[in-house]
Amino acid sequence: MTSERQRMDADIVCVGFGPATAGFLTTLTRALMKPDGTPAFESQVMPGMPLQIMCYERADDIGFGCSGVVTKGRAIRASFPDLDLAKEIPNAVAAGEERVVYLQDPVGASRRTVGTKFMDGVFKAGQFAMRKGPSAQELPWIPPFLRKEPGLVMSMGQFMSWAGAQLMGTGLVQIWPGTPVAAPILDGDKVLGVRLADQGVDKKGNPDGAYMPGMDIHARLTVVGDGPVGAVGRRLDRHFGMPVGNHQHDWAVGMKAVVELPAACDLKPGTVIHTLGYPEPEIFGFLYVYPDRTASLGIFVPSWFDSPIRTSYRYLQHWMQHPYLWRYLEGGILRSWGAKSIQESGARGEPYLVGDGYARVGEGSGTTNVLTNSGVDEAWRSGVILADGVVDLLRRGESFTQGTLTAAYVRRRRADALDKELQTAKKARDGFQKGFMLGMMGTGMTGMTQGVLNLSVASVPPSRRIKPLSTVGEGKIPADKLSAAVEACAKAKQPLHDALMTLAGWPEIPFDGTLLMSHQDALFKGGKVQAAGGFADHVTFADPALCATCKERTCIEICSAQALMPGEEGGAPEFDREKCVHCGACIWSCSKALPDDPERANIEFGAGSGGLHSNEN
Ligand SMILES: Cc1cc2nc3c(=O)[nH]c(=O)nc-3n(C[C@H](O)[C@H](O)[C@H](O)COP(=O)(O)OP(=O)(O)OC[C@H]3O[C@@H](n4cnc5c(N)ncnc54)[C@H](O)[C@@H]3O)c2cc1C
Ligand code: SF4
Ligand code: SF4
Repeated sequence: MTSERQRMDADIVCVGFGPATAGFLTTLTRALMKPDGTPAFESQVMPGMPLQIMCYERADDIGFGCSGVVTKGRAIRASFPDLDLAKEIPNAVAAGEERVVYLQDPVGASRRTVGTKFMDGVFKAGQFAMRKGPSAQELPWIPPFLRKEPGLVMSMGQFMSWAGAQLMGTGLVQIWPGTPVAAPILDGDKVLGVRLADQGVDKKGNPDGAYMPGMDIHARLTVVGDGPVGAVGRRLDRHFGMPVGNHQHDWAVGMKAVVELPAACDLKPGTVIHTLGYPEPEIFGFLYVYPDRTASLGIFVPSWFDSPIRTSYRYLQHWMQHPYLWRYLEGGILRSWGAKSIQESGARGEPYLVGDGYARVGEGSGTTNVLTNSGVDEAWRSGVILADGVVDLLRRGESFTQGTLTAAYVRRRRADALDKELQTAKKARDGFQKGFMLGMMGTGMTGMTQGVLNLSVASVPPSRRIKPLSTVGEGKIPADKLSAAVEACAKAKQPLHDALMTLAGWPEIPFDGTLLMSHQDALFKGGKVQAAGGFADHVTFADPALCATCKERTCIEICSAQALMPGEEGGAPEFDREKCVHCGACIWSCSKALPDDPERANIEFGAGSGGLHSNEN
């Protein structure tokens, strides 16, 4: 045990090991040695040695992932020109048949506005020209901007394990899983490195028996690739603010599962199905078929789904049971399960990309393409671009300042096809601010005109979109039944969503114990790692008194893992670190903005241990 904070010096430190930092490190390490085996660049912290490069990942393994993905994989393939990635990466397969399916509501409980009913009618009327499925119509043609072929269907976990193994094999980079980074070390506006999370502390962060302060890693360059809700990126955003006109208002949480398909299922590996229209119009779904009769499937619940009752777990179960999908899934077995947020402001969510001593890559730097619904290859590409710039600076012996990084990285990124595509996509989702129908029209318009025409609508922070509880059920639930249910749930210290969805007409879930199971059982099923002891709670409340005034308690309703539950009456929700899967949905689903900072809500999200890990995910 030591109570002194240790310090270590490195040349480059990376925060998070996702596709963005993997792309960065893959490209960088190839330039570090000369053909004769001597270092191309000498470490400034260990003279005579190659550059000392550290990468810290919060999850307990580098194969962290919560997303079966389909990706065109152009940048990833370009990094491995001699490899057939569909054969190299375990569980990967070439993208095959693609379908976009409009799901009608077969149970009559979904929130359908006049606009959505109109869409239902359009698809029904046009079904003579479409392939039909039970209560569903397949688009006869997939617009080019949505097509992923030729691409890859793969599991993020398997891909990251594979990419990590390639990197560690070089011996040129150290990747440390299970090591959350608490914060950047700032000296004014200069980033000096990062501070790892303290261990041996109680839930509030106070030193406990075996207190060990997190080490300070000082580095010439800090590469921040900690994804959409990373504590380091968020801290930088708060310190520097966002560039004028940019914001991070738009989000979704993806809840997904890996399912062993029943023997009777005839979907071929590589099949890609995207759905819209059900269980609520705003909830999109996906099903990607891996080799060996397994599928990665799930739904996205977005921040423009204004209802406070936004439980992704229960909605996932209703979605799976839609007759169009159930004919493939009935008899399947849930293998693992998880959730993760996605930044949906795309290029509008771009923060300051560089400053003295640091650069941002990946989703936290605004790389999600909100038109094509893709982010893996884009994140990887941003890492490759940064690495090219860093190698240039190393060759010229220049230091990593805001000026040199702007010239070496930001200018390169602006000139790259990545930036052009992100700019084209920038306004693709704006229409959803005004509802499902306008959202669909806006996306179609942006996609078909390559961003020349858009439906541009101003957006507001998510907390301003969340409607009062009284609107739940949109007239289907009598006021007295609603308040009785709210009272009963408060007494039983239970979230509201199950009771209110049932009152709104959603059928009970017929649990079968294999695919359809209680949320609690799914938590035990796989994918979840127990949080290591001795770390502070990573979900806290900026102003607990504000929670006492909050009726919607949307953080509890959306929580992907029942980690946020009603607490004492008049107090903040209770947080259970053991259950949290670090999905980040509570951050953008808090219904109260801070009075002195309307862009920020009442939840603080720090760096913590545990969470999700399943490398087949
Ligand atoms: C459900 C879902 C489905 C998706 N489907 C697709 C798809 O089909 N196709 C596609 O192209 N894209 C898809 N995406 C988007 C894609 O997953 C992301 O765009 C991509 O993962 C972004 O990569 P990244 O490296 O920037 O961030 P991430 O993948 O988020 O990686 C960041 C890493 O940093 C770590 N980290 C965070 N904070 C800390 C900290 N404080 N200390 C240490 N480590 C930290 C995290 O644990 C994580 O491993 C999907 C996303 C979701 C949520
Ligand atoms: S964190 Fe936000 S949504 Fe949750 S109870 Fe507090 S104010 Fe309400
Ligand atoms: S508490 Fe954890 S699991 Fe629940 S929404 Fe927040 S990050 Fe996700």
